[in-house]
Amino acid sequence: MKYSGACHCGAVSFAFETHIDELIRCDCSLCSKRNALMATVPREQFKITRGEDALRLYRWNSGVAHHYFCGTCGIYVYHQRRSNPALLSVNACCVDGLDSQVLPTRQVDGKSRTMVAARAATE
Ligand SMILES: [Zn+2]
Repeated sequence: MKYSGACHCGAVSFAFETHIDELIRCDCSLCSKRNALMATVPREQFKITRGEDALRLYRWNSGVAHHYFCGTCGIYVYHQRRSNPALLSVNACCVDGLDSQVLPTRQVDGKSRTMVAARAATE
């Protein structure tokens, strides 16, 4: 199915085509603070249709995952996963017409993923 969506202010919009049969919640420190409810989308199916330059990148811990949010309204839009960079997690609450109430939600364990030791101040 084809989907489209946008951040809150509309600076960033996107489109993708995939089958969504579940949504994901992750309990890592970032996902739990942003209260993320996510849909899995293959990276090659996902396109930013407006506002690529409005996106800001946030990286933490291992730096492998790329978390993108709108630089104007601050809404989390999507991220490229650490576990599989070919897959994106897209903010399900930003997807037009996606009824998150009717889809099953799968809880994934992000909390116990290996944390990278904090870098020494001299690095
Ligand atoms: Zn925005």
